[in-house]
Amino acid sequence: MMKYENIDINQLVKEVQNKLAEVTLKTQAKDLEKDESYTKDEIDKRKDSGIFNDPSEAVEAAYIAQKQLFDMSLMDRKRITDSIKEHLLKYVHELSQLVVDETGMGNKRDKVIKNTVAIEKTPSTEDLRAGVFTGDDGLTLLELSPFGVIGAITPSTNPTETAICNSIGMVAAGNSVVFSPHPGAYRSTNRAVELISQAVTMAGGPKNLVVTVDNPSMKKSQVIMSHEKINVLCATGGPGLVKAVLSSGKKAIGAGAGNPPVLVDATADIEKAAKDIVDGASFDNNLPCIAEKEAFVVDSVFDYLVFNMVANGAYHIKDQDTIKKLEKILITEKGQANKDYIGKDAKVILRDIGIQVDDDIRLVIMETNFEHPFVQVELMMPVLPLVRVKDAWEGMDLAIKAEHGLRHTAMCHSKDIDVLTEMGRRIQTTIYVKNGPSYAGIGIGGEGYTTYTIAGPTGEGLTSASTFTRKRRCALVGGFTIR
Ligand code: NAD
Repeated sequence: MMKYENIDINQLVKEVQNKLAEVTLKTQAKDLEKDESYTKDEIDKRKDSGIFNDPSEAVEAAYIAQKQLFDMSLMDRKRITDSIKEHLLKYVHELSQLVVDETGMGNKRDKVIKNTVAIEKTPSTEDLRAGVFTGDDGLTLLELSPFGVIGAITPSTNPTETAICNSIGMVAAGNSVVFSPHPGAYRSTNRAVELISQAVTMAGGPKNLVVTVDNPSMKKSQVIMSHEKINVLCATGGPGLVKAVLSSGKKAIGAGAGNPPVLVDATADIEKAAKDIVDGASFDNNLPCIAEKEAFVVDSVFDYLVFNMVANGAYHIKDQDTIKKLEKILITEKGQANKDYIGKDAKVILRDIGIQVDDDIRLVIMETNFEHPFVQVELMMPVLPLVRVKDAWEGMDLAIKAEHGLRHTAMCHSKDIDVLTEMGRRIQTTIYVKNGPSYAGIGIGGEGYTTYTIAGPTGEGLTSASTFTRKRRCALVGGFTIR
């Protein structure tokens, strides 16, 4: 019989909690030890390539590597990131093919472009610009210091691009990185990390500066997210992931979902707008979070825009029954995008509703109303609904609504400065492209550096090396001003 006298209830609760934590940890450790796909020798060999089965081990290794990097110079960091760029460039075709094979999404041609710009246009240490204040009271420097170890969670839609781009920026800033790759894209992500790891050591950098986790799972991701030696989390993915990192209690950089609208008004260069929209909305089969997902087109130019989109590789579905058929296969009963069709070729999507087309068809278009799920849901398929509007102002109102306040990306084709300005001012997206395809916003055929982590929800915007730093002030009182 249990005695109730002299029991300290707080003590009892603590003991039970400790016991439960012990059991949970033991179970987790057991799960992590169990790796059916590799022998022990193979697991050890993979560790040398920066690929760890146990996420805690990965974090511990990256922690040591970051200390070593911190003792190296800025020139060393530049040499390491240059080496990553040079080495990875040789593997762009292999990586792009691997991603297509593993995920079954997107196309190799565009993934080659995406990986190449990730390598060539992600800034390194040149992005780390210090600040300065001078005056009667002396000199104060604003220095950019590393956070330490960054836990980076990556998506299936741009897996190798994100790993490359995050690695260059985070290492240039003086951090080490532990990747938690998407379970559906981890083989290709980890191949990229293996190559990055090779490049780091080839340049004399620390072993395990950039590491990743094998056979990823939600549990392993949680271990990284809650590990005491992870200083910052950087999440690139959908709303569930961003919510999870924001609830982690750690500093989080969250790059989330978008539903980018494009507005075309009567003053636009319609032939160019049509080509830009087809190019942007079909790029990598619409997988990029920045790609045009729905269009608002002024009535007077609607038909001419459609005519030119068809001339540029769009397939126009005109009858309602066919649109209904398409809706049936692309939208689930829960009103979400059907994963089976995310990132698939336009030809495959059309084939499944009984329409045979040639390979040069890159995009499927149709006129819908504003409420249609193709407008409201982030499809990530080469399927673009067009909504007819009476003028630019009505189109702008609807475009803002369709963006759902995600503040991600928007496009506008117009020659009216008031329309261009007002749309940018009101929609408040991180990326706003005027008179160009969406990908111009990440430096593909547009000015500016490239990133695949666009942190709208947490406000950092287009991330780069300086995003992954702590801003520190260093004040020298009463000296060093020579004015
Ligand atoms: P996803 O959200 O399914 O997965 C992203 C990553 O998060 C994966 O590694 C996954 O395992 C992990 N994850 C998901 N939920 C989690 C949770 N609760 N806890 C811990 N880890 C979790 O994304 P996806 O389907 O690969 O990518 C597509 C989505 O990502 C789209 O919504 C797209 O708009 C968005 N995206 C945004 C950006 C950006 O820069 N803003 C870039 C790429 C993709």
